[in-house]
Amino acid sequence: MRQSHLFTKTRKTAPKDEVAKNAQLLIRAGFIHKEMAGVYSYLPLGLRVVEKIKQIVREEMNAIASQELIMTALQKKELWERTDRWSDEVVDVWFKSELKAGGEVGFGWSHEEPIGEMMKNFITSYRDLPISVYQFQTKLRNELRAKSGIMRGREFVMKDMYSFAADEKSHLAYYESAKPAYMNVFKRLGIGDDTYITFAAGGAFTKFSHEFQTVCETGEDVTYIDRKKKIAINEEVLNDETLSNLGLKHDDLEKVSTAEVGNIFNFGQQKAEDLGLLAKDKDGKDTPVWMGSYGIGITRLMGVLVEKFSDDKGIVWPKSVSPFAVHLVSIAAGNSDIEKEADRVYDLLRENNIEVLYDDRDVRAGEKFADSDLIGISTRLVVSEKTISAGGYELADRATGKAKFVSESSLLNELRK
Ligand code: ATP
Ligand code: MG
Repeated sequence: MRQSHLFTKTRKTAPKDEVAKNAQLLIRAGFIHKEMAGVYSYLPLGLRVVEKIKQIVREEMNAIASQELIMTALQKKELWERTDRWSDEVVDVWFKSELKAGGEVGFGWSHEEPIGEMMKNFITSYRDLPISVYQFQTKLRNELRAKSGIMRGREFVMKDMYSFAADEKSHLAYYESAKPAYMNVFKRLGIGDDTYITFAAGGAFTKFSHEFQTVCETGEDVTYIDRKKKIAINEEVLNDETLSNLGLKHDDLEKVSTAEVGNIFNFGQQKAEDLGLLAKDKDGKDTPVWMGSYGIGITRLMGVLVEKFSDDKGIVWPKSVSPFAVHLVSIAAGNSDIEKEADRVYDLLRENNIEVLYDDRDVRAGEKFADSDLIGISTRLVVSEKTISAGGYELADRATGKAKFVSESSLLNELRK
């Protein structure tokens, strides 16, 4: 893409009412637009990052045999009444509305109930199981506070997955398989070392649920981590009993701020019982299905990445989700030979399927470099009079700031490294 065609522009300052670093940087660099508190639009650059995060999650969920679908945003009141989750006293984030034809609907803040109900059409016997499905969906939540930028939206993208099993053994096996799949996601995003499987408050069926908490100064959660054992406890369940259950010592724990980037939840048979989702067992007896739910905050993750990977000049995207692989910057200053050479490099990269943002604008070099630092594409390739006269280009790494000269003939090999 040519930067001269990109309609978004960088800006020197963020809106005054925006207090979160992630949103400030993302707005300044032109990744998102703030519609109102907790509500953000994703612009071309931002959308590319969201899609890359989604693709990593998609690959890891497909690898544990989950099937992608997409559910509706409008939800039936009756369904949530059946599980006693319609009332605002029980669920405090509902957005609700009225149908003109009469009756109320809810805007999806989660999908266990609708998905369980839908599955009645497809699950009748243990032979139909196990099943796992997932979606990327825009959730709507009437969050009381929305001061963490895209880390806490009133409208945000979540990956939610739901598993259905005929018996406890296969149910637990699937639940366990989600943990390494989740960790693979976080590793690929560059936050594997800082993300802890965390014991948190459970539900009706299990003592604990598992959260995936990433160490992050601006995270809203307080977590006690054991760096050596790579395990953590949410402060809400920190007590002597939990510690001895998990074989942890209070002295080995470090209190840190974290952001919950995902969680997995074991419903046992309770949810299916409430919903009437039954499967015939081997003896022909109707049995409630074992269910689990598994969330990842896609847009929250994007915010966490910006919080963790940025410096005083701007964002520093990990390679795996950088909006483009290469930021090609031409410093031509009106010299048409340099312009032509930069155009040629641009075509060469595109022909070789290397995603490239090409700063072909007629602006000062200083402005180009400042914008490039702010946008944070992981690799920068500079074409200038100086580099051309030396027979090549300058290749710089946004994360380390290290730059090196690459000759024309070695360019593609260098970029593919
Ligand atoms: P939190 O405690 O942060 O409110 P939650 O317990 O409500 O999270 P879930 O309902 O389980 O979270 O949602 C699954 C995932 O979606 C969370 O782990 C988090 O990463 C993400 N998430 C939850 N609420 C928001 C939000 N308001 N904005 C952005 N992401 C969110
Ligand atoms: Mg919440």
